[in-house]
Amino acid sequence: MAKTIQAIRGMNDCLPSNTPTWQFVESRIRQLVNSYHYQEIRTPIVESTDLFKRSVGEATDIVEKEMYVFEDRNGDSLALRPEGTACAVRAGNQHGLLYNQQRRLWYMGPMFRHERPQKGRYRQFHQFGAEAFGYQGPDIDIEMILMGARLWKSFGISDKVELQINSLGNAEARANYKKVLVEFLSAHIESLDEDSKRRLDTNPLRILDSKDKNTQEILVNAPKLIDHLDTESAEHFSILCERLDALGIEYTVNPSLVRGLDYYNRTVFEWVTSLLGSQGTICAGGRYDGLVQQLGGRETPAVGFAMGIERLVLLVESLEIDVGESDAQVYVTALGTAAELKAQELTELMREHFSFLKVQTHCGGGNFKKQLKKADASGAMLAIIIGESEAQSGSFGLKWLRKDLPQETVTEQELLEVLAEVS
Ligand code: ATP
Ligand code: MG
Repeated sequence: MAKTIQAIRGMNDCLPSNTPTWQFVESRIRQLVNSYHYQEIRTPIVESTDLFKRSVGEATDIVEKEMYVFEDRNGDSLALRPEGTACAVRAGNQHGLLYNQQRRLWYMGPMFRHERPQKGRYRQFHQFGAEAFGYQGPDIDIEMILMGARLWKSFGISDKVELQINSLGNAEARANYKKVLVEFLSAHIESLDEDSKRRLDTNPLRILDSKDKNTQEILVNAPKLIDHLDTESAEHFSILCERLDALGIEYTVNPSLVRGLDYYNRTVFEWVTSLLGSQGTICAGGRYDGLVQQLGGRETPAVGFAMGIERLVLLVESLEIDVGESDAQVYVTALGTAAELKAQELTELMREHFSFLKVQTHCGGGNFKKQLKKADASGAMLAIIIGESEAQSGSFGLKWLRKDLPQETVTEQELLEVLAEVS
């Protein structure tokens, strides 16, 4: 036998047993963005590598070690997109969507990062993201947070997800703080983990979210960025907090929340759950007021978030939330050539009249006993039975599969009336 070919490690098939949950999650997301009147944007999966180097940042985990980069046949360096914000900004600049106007956009699709696969962490994963351009905030920051809160509510998981917020200030405040932080950490350099030692030069802020125990202990006494904010960012942050309070959105200020991408400033936030082990961040976002300009556009304030769909799906599965997966409703059996043709005509007629009805036509022959067994297994509540004589007469056998009632004979018209009641 030929050797079977396996999928790439960390890249998952979504099988029929999973797709109902995915469809449920995706449809709730579509409802959500619709109710906030965001517009969808779809960008290619492949972009030039430079886009991510210039936006996400050279010294980030994503660009340093997680990106799928390859050379095109003509020698250009291309990357499978590791995230969606840079792509949205690239497209926005390229097509003049951002200049001198305000935009609220959303996207959903696969992203790629070469990470160690584990529960909630994959090499191909999916993100839903929202981005708003041309708004200074903090009102729009709050809208981003409200969207998350509304989505949790629609899944009935508001009590399972916690909001953490922080402010990164402006570039100058961050630069000043970096100095203070590096000074503090340099005094403890021996106790830092290897990654953090390296980041002391390349990306000191990232040390704040080191998972290493020793490093974390040192960080407890480290100076906090939130105490070194510029006046405007501090004001922005205090309005944000006040409004969240007024709107009844609970949050924790987490001074070590820095996010792993370079482009963030001011507000950053994460929605975190304790139900998914160490992959607990379901949604992460913040402001990135400099990015549009950094990628060649005009200065444009911006804010957005990205949500990991796999983590959301895991959460929905682990909480056994009803995703409304439904069986076939009507199963049509037929015996003989004329009856089979009649069955296909009849099922098309049903679909014509009732577009939401789930109708399955028996295919592949076999006697009625075998066909009715299939009908039962399909989960359908109603079986239609068409033999040679029914094919001639234009009336059909009708059998309720989940009720103890005798089989009846109905005309086409009567059948449509029955279906109108059940569909
Ligand atoms: P983490 O700290 O978990 O690595 P991150 O900071 O790299 O996350 P972002 O780049 O902000 O994550 O992406 C936003 C969201 O996308 C994450 O909160 C998570 O839900 C999801 N996500 C990121 N990387 C992966 C991955 N490899 N597999 C599955 N989901 C992911
Ligand atoms: Mg990551």
